[in-house]
Amino acid sequence: MTEPNETQNLPTCPLCGNGTFRREEGKLDSAWGLTAHRVRMLICERCSYVLAFYEGNTIFDFD
Ligand SMILES: [Zn+2]
Repeated sequence: MTEPNETQNLPTCPLCGNGTFRREEGKLDSAWGLTAHRVRMLICERCSYVLAFYEGNTIFDFD
């Protein structure tokens, strides 16, 4: 059996160099309740360092 592809796209922990992460996904609502954006978090399984990635539009996305 081969490793799933997505594991190869994971970054390395900047703190301890570990390459395995626990994945969490959540949604952040703005303080005004008008917009929301999703956030994806990778939590290092060794040192619990959290990398956060924002997905989609944010409330600051107008220029
Ligand atoms: Zn780490």
